[in-house]
Amino acid sequence: MRLKLVKVKKMEVVSQLAASISHEIRNPLTVVKGFIQLLKTPSLSQDAKDRYIQIALDEINRAEAIINEYLTFAKPSSNKVERLMVDDQLRKVIQMLAPMAHMNSIEIVEELQPGAIIGNIQYFQQCFLNLIKNSIEAMPNGGTLTISSFLHGNHVIITIKDTGVGMTTEQMNRFGEPYFSTKEKGTGLGTMVAVKMIQTMQGTLHIQSEVNKGTTLTITFPKAAN
Ligand code: ADP
Ligand code: MG
Repeated sequence: MRLKLVKVKKMEVVSQLAASISHEIRNPLTVVKGFIQLLKTPSLSQDAKDRYIQIALDEINRAEAIINEYLTFAKPSSNKVERLMVDDQLRKVIQMLAPMAHMNSIEIVEELQPGAIIGNIQYFQQCFLNLIKNSIEAMPNGGTLTISSFLHGNHVIITIKDTGVGMTTEQMNRFGEPYFSTKEKGTGLGTMVAVKMIQTMQGTLHIQSEVNKGTTLTITFPKAAN
């Protein structure tokens, strides 16, 4: 069994994310532009055309995946910080991901006790969407996804447990590092975005993982005053 604590820097900012996203999607867009220009080449073989079109489509899919990691819930001008119930918000995220879990023969167990924290609802949802999606992707041959929330002293604790592929120590150390991905079409941005959002909500993240056994993420937030 291995344990890791992701260190939290309080001042880290989500406003960086807005700058990051335009940077991130510029690369795929540049590639798409280049290949569309190439398609204008006179007497291009059908084979070359097909290849260029496929590359352009792959890059558009990549841009879409990047936007999904950052901005699934984004609404214009909403960086409101409010009291939110983690159990309600987690239920919403689970509902969104349930079809994906069912397609992969994953059973979802919810053990959600009410708990209030202070944060931005969109960030909270994006963060847990990215983390839970990874847990589902870690179980390509099915398994059990257990999501719980409970109060502990002055904290609200959320755990996301999967019975998936697990992580090596090196992979755990790189959790949250931009562009680190072990997936063929991964962006390596989902955990980075999630970790930043947890930081802005004054939370901490612990990882416990064992290869071929599974991973448990424990996210702890300060409880909102009553
Ligand atoms: P992506 O999902 O696009 O690869 P992420 O930033 O979301 O990018 O995740 C980075 C990497 O962290 C993944 O490729 C995977 O290796 C590892 N990872 C994250 N969550 C889990 C998990 N629950 N089980 C196993 N590996 C995980
Ligand atoms: Mg991911």
